[in-house]
Amino acid sequence: MSDESEVVRFALLNKSCFATKRQPDRVKKAVFFSLLFLFFLWSLWPGEYRITGSLSNQDREEIENILDHAEESFLPLFKLDNNFQLHIHVCKDLQEFLKLTGASWWNGGHFQNQIIFIQRPEALREREILEQTLDHEFLHYCISRVGGNSVPTWLNEGIVLNLNNEMPGLDCDTKATGIPLGKLDEALHGKDAEAARAAYCEAGRRVRRMIMENGFESILHSLDPRKSFCLVINY
Ligand SMILES: [Zn+2]
Repeated sequence: MSDESEVVRFALLNKSCFATKRQPDRVKKAVFFSLLFLFFLWSLWPGEYRITGSLSNQDREEIENILDHAEESFLPLFKLDNNFQLHIHVCKDLQEFLKLTGASWWNGGHFQNQIIFIQRPEALREREILEQTLDHEFLHYCISRVGGNSVPTWLNEGIVLNLNNEMPGLDCDTKATGIPLGKLDEALHGKDAEAARAAYCEAGRRVRRMIMENGFESILHSLDPRKSFCLVINY
């Protein structure tokens, strides 16, 4: 056999192998390692957002701008660095939002398992709460970085409402609502909008009192899971 035909035979042999077994494995491996490499690069990038879901480029740009601003405003308050990756999922409609989060229709967003879920940007714009919602959920993210999963919901929401200046929008009464602390977390998770609003006001009122009497440092202290919640439960 000539050298030339040997080359052809070898090429055909490889082609058949290529077509039957090796190629799919190689392609799968190449895709897998490429994705792994991209994920590695992504994980090295500081202060980065991964935004998924159905949204226009304009929406994406606006969301990134709002989050950049939230990052500058809130990370220093919690003494956090900007070396993080945060996943934001934009739901395509209310049904998807309710299904993925278990939240209520009146929640513009929800922070869960280190993911910020938000309703459709147009829906939030119509209610004039797109920026407020992203800031709100970003604050929950900051609290989770300081306190992990051990922060009671009322303390978590109370801090967010105060730092995001949401109490006036909730039309909160300055007087106590009478919801006892032990029942507050349950009330905050309720599906009735008016009852939940009262619970949010109560949580905000308690935290505002803590901040006024002891300063924001006391809040940071109380969030640390290594420290006692004694200070907190007095309110
Ligand atoms: Zn919240």
